[in-house]
Amino acid sequence: MQAETVRFGIDKALESLGVKAVNEGTSTGANHFGSGDLIASYSPVDGQLIAQVKSTTKTDYEKVLETATSAFKTWRLMPAPQRGEIVRQFADKLREKKEALGKLVSYEMGKSYQEGLGEVQEMIDICDFAAGLSRQLHGLTMHSERPGHRMYEQYHPLGVVGIISAFNFPVAVWSWNTALAWVCGDVCVWKPSEKTPLCGIACQNIASEVFKANNLPEGISCLINGDYQVGEFMTKDTRVPLISATGSTRMGKIVAQEVAARLGKSLLELGGNNAIIVTPDADIKMTVIGAVFGAVGTAGQRCTSTRRLIIHESIYDQVKTALVDAYKQLRIGNPLDQTNHVGPLIDVEAVNLYKKALTAVVDEGGNLVVEGGVLSGEGYESGCYVKPAIAEAQPEFKIVQHETFAPVLYLLKYSGDVENAIDIQNNVAQGLSSAIMTNNLREAERFLSVAGSDCGIANVNIGTSGAEIGGAFGGEKETGGGRESGSDAWKVYMRRQTNTINYTTELPLAQGIKFDL
Ligand code: NAD
Repeated sequence: MQAETVRFGIDKALESLGVKAVNEGTSTGANHFGSGDLIASYSPVDGQLIAQVKSTTKTDYEKVLETATSAFKTWRLMPAPQRGEIVRQFADKLREKKEALGKLVSYEMGKSYQEGLGEVQEMIDICDFAAGLSRQLHGLTMHSERPGHRMYEQYHPLGVVGIISAFNFPVAVWSWNTALAWVCGDVCVWKPSEKTPLCGIACQNIASEVFKANNLPEGISCLINGDYQVGEFMTKDTRVPLISATGSTRMGKIVAQEVAARLGKSLLELGGNNAIIVTPDADIKMTVIGAVFGAVGTAGQRCTSTRRLIIHESIYDQVKTALVDAYKQLRIGNPLDQTNHVGPLIDVEAVNLYKKALTAVVDEGGNLVVEGGVLSGEGYESGCYVKPAIAEAQPEFKIVQHETFAPVLYLLKYSGDVENAIDIQNNVAQGLSSAIMTNNLREAERFLSVAGSDCGIANVNIGTSGAEIGGAFGGEKETGGGRESGSDAWKVYMRRQTNTINYTTELPLAQGIKFDL
């Protein structure tokens, strides 16, 4: 009982999600997990082995693809609003399992329990959105230039959608893709990050229950497990018309080439290097809250984490002092304990990258105003807990140009007009999220104008991190150009067809061409 209290009920959560000590594939091949080598999932929270998962071999993968391809033939014929009803039921199941799944997300990935719950809430929200969307997958009707002709376009499902996801949003990113793809009539094969395979199993179990209860083929939702090699089964497979890949820019460049080489479609959601511009007219209190949450939330492991603060020289010292004070209040520790603000990094490799970044910024001439460091001792046995750090730096430093997936915030000073700050903000390879803190309408509008932020997301008076599912989510440049979630992001999961119907007894040709026989 005591052990259970210390583990914050994680064992109960695993049981309720059907996650076993060793998770392997089903013998029928339906949504097969795999029969290959075991992948062990250790918690960054306490370093304990949570459970193991069998990886997917090439033979397993072939079975999965067969199952998915055959499920597509049934699923695509179901009217879209009925598919929406299935997604609605999936959302209901998620509501039932919200606490258990939120806890597993927190324990396997290391983000706070509140953020784990938030991630599951995002899944529920996108399902609700998708259920409504299932009645709105509309094309346009155009006027034909030929008499007695009607022309319109319609959208059909693509087929099997391959989803490759990153460790930091181990469940939400899958659902952003899958809820939309399902209502569009596609079936999905998901390869979660090898760092968070249990989250994948839990989601798959929930989805399977819903499909079974509706007598639908389980192959509508398939799971494969393993590292990049298992991902490559899909990226090279011509039977998978769309690959949606979320992860590092390094990964995206490889996946983009593999998929393009076979003229497939890819949807890429890659790294960010997000900045907040703080102008002389900024509300400093709001700025500090936004910047601290953006930089240390999820221990700096969000694609939208705030990495750079571009502060006007006139308020630079004031903002710096306020930030340093705020960092003193941060509590670092077990993310399942809701009194802590910052949990662990995903693994020791990530801790090493964090340490390297702190060395690099000093080597390049930067100055650490909040030193950071790796924590050890009681409660920090996993070796994954680090102190959030702040460094004064120059925009052109190599390390500042690079995304370090850890809580390291760079302070950059600008002088003169807001245009100078916008130049600094845009002068990186990535283009995901950006923000300006200002009460000056002119500055805000300049930031949002055609000559303003070049990112996929540009916010005024809120931070860079955290997005609502109703808008299209994604970024430009090395962030990959993909858009997921709300708005018209659904279109990427469908193929467009233009239809022209002649209801006369003549056969006029377009562009007035005559072809008399
Ligand atoms: P990663 O690139 O190491 O891995 C992501 C996924 O890609 C994993 O499932 C991995 O197995 C797979 N993969 C890697 N190489 C592959 C290959 N050659 N072929 C097929 N699959 C391959 O990323 P990570 O460390 O898990 O996640 C952190 C990164 O993800 C950060 O850069 C972050 O900014 C980015 N991210 C971006 C978004 C976004 O929406 N833009 C969201 C979350 C995370």
